[in-house]
Amino acid sequence: MEATRKSKQRDAILQELQGRRDHPTAEELYFALKDRWPALSLGTIYRNLTQFCQTGQAQRLPGRSAEHFDATVQPHAHVLCLQCGRMSDLSLPPPLFDELQQQAEAEFPGELLEIKLQFNGICAQCAAIPQKAETPAAMRQGSE
Ligand SMILES: [Zn+2]
Ligand SMILES: [Zn+2]
Repeated sequence: MEATRKSKQRDAILQELQGRRDHPTAEELYFALKDRWPALSLGTIYRNLTQFCQTGQAQRLPGRSAEHFDATVQPHAHVLCLQCGRMSDLSLPPPLFDELQQQAEAEFPGELLEIKLQFNGICAQCAAIPQKAETPAAMRQGSE
């Protein structure tokens, strides 16, 4: 029974992640699932996400304040909005990744396992909002 409940929870978490393109955090998945799965805890979600990353069913991406998770594991690039924390996919041509991999391998005397390519920027929605006075200062490194 216990194993069945656990595997059903695991399937629900993976399905939710696979059905989304917004690279949710563990917390966002928790809020999306808690109505249907009241017994599900944030810790369980986090444990399962870690497992998905180990088995190659998902990848983790560093975000602004929390990690994001992505069920698309083929090499693709991301854009992180520094203002709202939204993470979007960027479909760069695969040969570009092969080229990067080859160049990196030529330079690195070890084994390169994966590429994570991420741009930081300001998304269109955030760019359309008039900036608050403190934002530009907060974005300047070492201004504090
Ligand atoms: Zn934004
Ligand atoms: Zn992605």
